[in-house]
Amino acid sequence: MFLHTYRARLVIYSSILIVFLTGTLFYSYQYSYDVIMGETNKHLVRLQQLLNAHMKTERDELLRYATIVSHDLRLKEYMFIITDIGGDSKPLQQLFDRQFGWLPIDRKIIIDNEGHLLIGENHTDMAVTVREKALEKSSSVFYFQGKSGLEVVAVKPIKYRDKVLGKVAVSHYLSQEWLNSNKKILGGEFFLVENNNIVNSTLSSIGSTRFNISNNLLNINNTPYRLYQITLPGKNNKTLQLWFGLSEESIRARLTQHQDFILILAGAGIIGILIVGLVIIRNFTQPLFHLMHATSEVSKGKIPLLGKLKVRNEFDELSNHFADMLQALREKQIEIDKTHAELEHSAITDTLTGCYNRRHLLEIFPKLLAQAKREKFYVYALMFDLDYFKKINDAFGHIAGDQCLVHFAHLLIENIRTSDYAFRLGGEEFLILMVSEDIVTASKLADKLRQITEKNPIRSGDQLINITVSGGISYANPKNSAEKTLNQMLSRADIALYQAKRDGRNQICISSHPDDTIELTTPQANTS
Ligand code: GH3
Ligand code: MG
Ligand code: MG
Repeated sequence: MFLHTYRARLVIYSSILIVFLTGTLFYSYQYSYDVIMGETNKHLVRLQQLLNAHMKTERDELLRYATIVSHDLRLKEYMFIITDIGGDSKPLQQLFDRQFGWLPIDRKIIIDNEGHLLIGENHTDMAVTVREKALEKSSSVFYFQGKSGLEVVAVKPIKYRDKVLGKVAVSHYLSQEWLNSNKKILGGEFFLVENNNIVNSTLSSIGSTRFNISNNLLNINNTPYRLYQITLPGKNNKTLQLWFGLSEESIRARLTQHQDFILILAGAGIIGILIVGLVIIRNFTQPLFHLMHATSEVSKGKIPLLGKLKVRNEFDELSNHFADMLQALREKQIEIDKTHAELEHSAITDTLTGCYNRRHLLEIFPKLLAQAKREKFYVYALMFDLDYFKKINDAFGHIAGDQCLVHFAHLLIENIRTSDYAFRLGGEEFLILMVSEDIVTASKLADKLRQITEKNPIRSGDQLINITVSGGISYANPKNSAEKTLNQMLSRADIALYQAKRDGRNQICISSHPDDTIELTTPQANTS
């Protein structure tokens, strides 16, 4: 039953939407950790590739510098002189500084085939490694941990007239600055590891810490770091490693950010659905509801007033059509009510005189009786009959007779109170019903009407017709049913009227039936 309203369905559809949306977002909230971790791993792999490419460029650059040096003809001639003829290596040093002082390198050495240092006498550590590498015939670029930290070294043989004179090696420190500049570009932290000890890192606080890594996770000061290794060419890689990574904390911060975003999205979605729902309810179901309400009122027989709306949609138009229909219905109803009232009036009115008829007497009497009982008053019946009316008809004609009836009826209606009722019982017989405290008021009125009738002849054409009226008064004795009481009251009034006729007409008589339970005061009126 509930589902049969458009509004209820709308509420249900909106609820389903909200549940669906919340469910989806709850699911993505739950799985956002996996999403973030997956994304972070991808990010790390990309960073790793980027860093590897960057380091390869650096190595190539260094190798180019070594090549430039090894190809310098003057340097070769100097070296030939020193190695073959013998001599001081100082001029070689000066030549190098003059020719290649501009190269962006940190250390350089030149060794002869025996491994003697011709340039860079302080860099024996580097010379030893270069010699070792020469023996191993490994690549001409390698990393090694020198006196001042991690270095990348490029080595090139110096050949003169198809003879190898020695080697030149240039190096570049992967210093703290290098680590920091890469940290700035790539984000994350760098760890330089030698023999499973962290020897250098962008994290300043760690000093020399054991490098215990499991599942790519490293714990430093209770903060786990997700790590990736950067390949360092050269045989030293087993003992010398470069790692970079992101702290789980920063990953978690991203996770929280992501989850907050999901929560905001969920909130905004729900609010959005609610707003749309409310707008739909306002725009569609509200006019519909008003229409429903109006139609239900109509079905109950009422015609409600429906205001006109500014037309914005079909519902407004429909509502306005309905309002027009109601207005037309209302006008029709007013017409019907008017006709009905006229019909009702003519049904209870004597058409000739305008007095009430017998039918209305039967309707109104019980009400007057009840009113009299409530007020502890009496219902009085004042019955009138025109005297010698037959003669008037005979003398002046039937039309004049009718005029007499109309004239007398108007005299009655004009001289009674609004609370009194005037009836034409038939022919020239009239009745007044009144609720009054005592007989005096009733008898006074009856006599007043008698006198007025006597004093007001009727003008019919150029003739004056004098009429008189006789009256009988009785009152209701409400011991019996209303109908019986009415009949008794009317027959006693009739008897009193008959008495008045017998006593000579143009007079009022009061009923004094033995059933009467109240003392009737003798009317002050003239009853003779
Ligand atoms: P009384 O003083 O004893 O009442 O004498 P009366 O002539 O008035 O008495 P009666 O009842 O014999 O006469 C009534 C007459 O009223 C008879 C009838 O022709 C006339 N009458 C009845 N209804 C109408 C009516 O609607 N129009 C006219 N013009 N005459 C009517
Ligand atoms: Mg009569
Ligand atoms: Mg009469």
